[in-house]
Amino acid sequence: MHKMLLAVGKGSGSFEVWTADISSSKFDKACLYDAHDCVVTGLAWAFDGCCLYSCGQENCVRAWVLHGSALCEVSIPSNTPGLRSSNDLPNVFVSCLGVAASPGNIALAMVRNVDGDSLDPMYEGRLQKAVVEFLWIGGQQKDILSPSSSDFTSEAFLGFSANELNCWESDILWYLTKYENLDNPLVVWDIVAALLAFKQSAPKYMDRILVKWLSVTFLGSYKGLSIGEVLKCIPENFSKITSRQLHLLNIICRRVILSDVKAEEINCKVNLGGSAAAKAEHLTLWIELLFSSEKELRERLVGFSLATFINRFSDSTTTFSRPGFWYPVGVEQMELWIALNHDRVRDQLKVLASEVRKHERRLQSSEYGVEEQCIYCSESVTFDSPEVAHCHCSNSTDETVQIYQMARCAVSMQVCPAIPLWFCKCCCRRASKLPPETLFTLPGYPLDFKSLTESSVKEIPSKPLCPFCGIPLQRLQPDFLLSPSPV
Ligand SMILES: [Zn+2]
Ligand SMILES: [Zn+2]
Ligand SMILES: [Zn+2]
Repeated sequence: MHKMLLAVGKGSGSFEVWTADISSSKFDKACLYDAHDCVVTGLAWAFDGCCLYSCGQENCVRAWVLHGSALCEVSIPSNTPGLRSSNDLPNVFVSCLGVAASPGNIALAMVRNVDGDSLDPMYEGRLQKAVVEFLWIGGQQKDILSPSSSDFTSEAFLGFSANELNCWESDILWYLTKYENLDNPLVVWDIVAALLAFKQSAPKYMDRILVKWLSVTFLGSYKGLSIGEVLKCIPENFSKITSRQLHLLNIICRRVILSDVKAEEINCKVNLGGSAAAKAEHLTLWIELLFSSEKELRERLVGFSLATFINRFSDSTTTFSRPGFWYPVGVEQMELWIALNHDRVRDQLKVLASEVRKHERRLQSSEYGVEEQCIYCSESVTFDSPEVAHCHCSNSTDETVQIYQMARCAVSMQVCPAIPLWFCKCCCRRASKLPPETLFTLPGYPLDFKSLTESSVKEIPSKPLCPFCGIPLQRLQPDFLLSPSPV
């Protein structure tokens, strides 16, 4: 794209739209609109420059769609996919101070100034000067001339027009495919919120959107398969799927489909088959899908780690852990994991693991091969799960025996210290070691991990990301240090 649109708000209440030619840095004024009575306080483009939202000091927000080189006003969708949020402050806004579209253009945020006189001066009046108001814009009409696209067959429900539902569907699908581009950070709170709302109010509609997305992304095209068929077919294609798409799939599985199941129960596969929730239609298929997707990522991470280990060893000119380079931790645990899943992991991993063992035999006096210890009683613990470790700690003073569960690091599979460094808000895993950046950019399952690790030079991760969800990890802090959640 060599053309860029620029909207400039003015004190008079009008705004101008300029087109900018990036290559020649030439600016042309396209049009001018007298949109507001007072100062234009905010302008936000959405849907790749298709829509413009403007707001003014007089407390008015307007939506515009681009038609050729002119803007036409459209109405902002008034319907919401879920329950209308309780409005604590009805009609107390006096002006609009700014407007911004959410990362996926599914919601609009507006900063609104509150009329101090209409609030209780002792309570709200002292605290609230301005509030942020959210509006769904997923159903935004973007074409004036052809309001309904013909290949959709939505029936109106929940007060949505068929056209609005089609817009929601195409917006969500457009948004999900945008994330295939690694330049777009994986910020998905708005799509998750919208899908959750539809899951509550119109589960069939949500299923239909997800089937289309899953079919196109993971099976190549949408052929009208049922959700059950689609969910079963997807894992066969995982080798060809980018890590980014697996991450997005995992987030949708956990945050939307399995939002009622505790992350720890999913990770440790506790009672999943028997719980009431799992009996619901297709839920077990979704859980299986999540497990296979996470196993695919685990195989990529383990393969990359083992190959890096071998490459560093074969290269006698470098010391093992060079500063500035990512190096694997937990090679021993990874070998144990491969042994534990011998029938389910690919052959390349087994070959890498046997090569690692040869190197380890030569290396007697290293940190490798050290037995893991319980972080409470220092007894040795065995490896029976990549997620957790158990110890039957014996307390010598009163002879009671307690079973302690310790989290294993999501990256190294080693037992985490009592306070591990990182925490993932999506899968609730902990990590004390960060994954290599390459994991997040893989276009598929690598045919040859060793040549891959040779070619990837700079490997110190610049951002702490969860290896399974692809979103930023959070620093684990005691609860009292965390600020209370916003209202
Ligand atoms: Zn539309
Ligand atoms: Zn113990
Ligand atoms: Zn995670």
